[in-house]
Amino acid sequence: MNKNSGKKKLFVISGSSGVGKGTVLKSFLTKNPNFMLSISCTTRAPRKGEVDGVNYFFLSKDEFQNCIDNDKFLEWAEFAGNRYGTKKKYIKQCLEEGKDIILEIDTQGALQVKKQMPEAVLIFICPPSLETLENRLRGRHTEDEATIQKRMQEVKTELERAEKFDYKVINDDLANAVAELEKVIIGEQKC
Ligand code: ADP
Ligand code: 5GP
Repeated sequence: MNKNSGKKKLFVISGSSGVGKGTVLKSFLTKNPNFMLSISCTTRAPRKGEVDGVNYFFLSKDEFQNCIDNDKFLEWAEFAGNRYGTKKKYIKQCLEEGKDIILEIDTQGALQVKKQMPEAVLIFICPPSLETLENRLRGRHTEDEATIQKRMQEVKTELERAEKFDYKVINDDLANAVAELEKVIIGEQKC
């Protein structure tokens, strides 16, 4: 048994909208079911097929503000017109129960987590090119044109913030990206 095997880690996965975070993570979690994926809160409307309490906790603007006012969030951010946040309680509970936890959040939230928990491991998923990123975002058919434009406008700042991350994984070929993510996470668990 390695000497730090009892120490649990918090992994933060970020990247621009449409880069494939959800797709890469789904494959990773199927192969590594022992990780807990945090369920965020959001003021965004559910997409077709999204379920409250599974994909997100969908909150009204007032409910979200109430969580901010009562200091319920480990981090929260406004992204492309909606608010998103991670509840402290769930993260604390998972770490106390000895579970490795993964957050899939935006770059602003990731840097907030790092400030509060410097031991958190930040992983940025990069697109092979900006053109591919936009094609993936459009190809998903979940956002209207105005929302796609808003999300693409965030990309430059997101790439700048990525310089502060611990690791970058390029999501070109999906299987390679999942293998690279696995290498980073399993490697960090051994530290
Ligand atoms: P994100 O969670 O980062 O917003 P998604 O996981 O929803 O992105 O992926 C956006 C779109 O790109 C989806 O339609 C998904 O099937 C596709 N996609 C993800 N990864 C790849 C990949 N490596 N190659 C081709 N298409 C991909
Ligand atoms: P989407 O609307 O596509 O589900 O998510 C938009 C962005 O919000 C993505 O970059 C996603 O990672 C991010 N996000 C999801 N949950 C959270 C959260 O709890 N906090 C923050 N800061 N960002 C989040």
